[in-house]
This record gives sequence, structure tokens and C-alpha cells, in this order.
Amino acid sequence: MAFSGHFDHIGTNNKSGDNIYNGADDDASGIATVIGMADYFKDKKTDYSLVFMAFNAEEIGLKGSKALSDNKDLNPVFNNIAALFNFEMLATESQFGKNAVFMTGDEFSDFDELINANAVNGLKVHSDPYQGQQLFYRSDNVNFVKKKIIAHSISTVDMNKATHYHAVNDDINIVDADNLTNIINNFAKTIEKFDTKNFTPKYNDKVNFNF
Ligand SMILES: [Zn+2]
Repeated sequence: MAFSGHFDHIGTNNKSGDNIYNGADDDASGIATVIGMADYFKDKKTDYSLVFMAFNAEEIGLKGSKALSDNKDLNPVFNNIAALFNFEMLATESQFGKNAVFMTGDEFSDFDELINANAVNGLKVHSDPYQGQQLFYRSDNVNFVKKKIIAHSISTVDMNKATHYHAVNDDINIVDADNLTNIINNFAKTIEKFDTKNFTPKYNDKVNFNF
């Protein structure tokens, strides 16, 4: 089982006033989720191994995840990944409300169905409502999709309403910490129910590995 997020953002601009793109949502919230998972599982016994990855240079073209996924020394690890959860912008309440996320590329695998069937405390994974934006092919998960690893991005951002996307107001004060904490805990408790026998998500033939 693998968890990932990207730790870079887009830097600063030359305007006066707040000119720092802090990236609290994009993607400190994803990194917080990866660390939260590691914290939850640090003293748990699972029958599968856990991999935690943090990527650099997502914003300039998914370069960190590309470099890591291309590293042949890591193929023994990658060849054994049942699924990769890439966490991308989970700081705000989703358009479906709290304790809810959406998954990019949900139509390509049964990953979301498996999670929903086992979800604890009302956690819900929704289909990607922004399919026209091709988010599945625009985030770090895609470098692992190319390796035919089940790899989806999980997010809460309301792409129709978010005014902080790639803006200087992507700041700590937009973070719904209670909702994020709840989502992290509920994901961890859901994943804890899985083992190598009951969790074998698969792609269907709609997915495109060559792009
Ligand atoms: Zn971004």
C-alpha cells in the first residue's frame, strides 16, 4: 500500500503585499495526510508493507514523481504496490460536504468501490465531478499509472468554487483542520481493515496507459 503527495508549490511573485504562494491546500494538506497515515500506522501490524512518498516539482510538470517512478532500483517495491493513494488538496470541504472526498479516474478501476464498501464513520469517496479537467492525468499518480499500478488522486477541492487554487490566499486560514483530521483518521481506519486477500483493486479496459 503506498501513500503520496507533493511538497513543492509555485513560490512567489513580484507584486507588493502578500506575494508568497504558501500552498496550504496545494499540497501541504496532502503531505499532512501522508504524515498522518504514517503516524496512524506506526504501531499497527498489517499483513502488507506501507510505502510513503513525498514528491518535489509537481507544479513544474510532475518531475519528482517521474524521477522516482523511473528509478529502476525501486521496481521491486513498485512491482508489489497493490494501490497508491495520492493525496492532493484536502484542506477544504468538498462539494459533497464534510467527511467526503473525490477520486480522480474512478471510472477506470474498482478502487473507490472497495474503499466505500469498507469505509468507516461515514467516509465517502465520490466520483470525480470535474472529469472535463482530466485531473487523473494531471497529477503525480499518473507516473505510476504508466507502470500499470493502481494509482488515483484523492481530493476535496471544489474546482468550481475554489478561489485559492494557485493563488496567494492558499493560506493556513482556508484549512478546515477538523474535517481534514477526520478524513485522515477515517481513511486510516478504513485501510486498516484491508489485507492482501480482500484488497486487490484492478483497472478495467477503459484506462489508457499510453499517453
Ligand atoms: Zn498545484
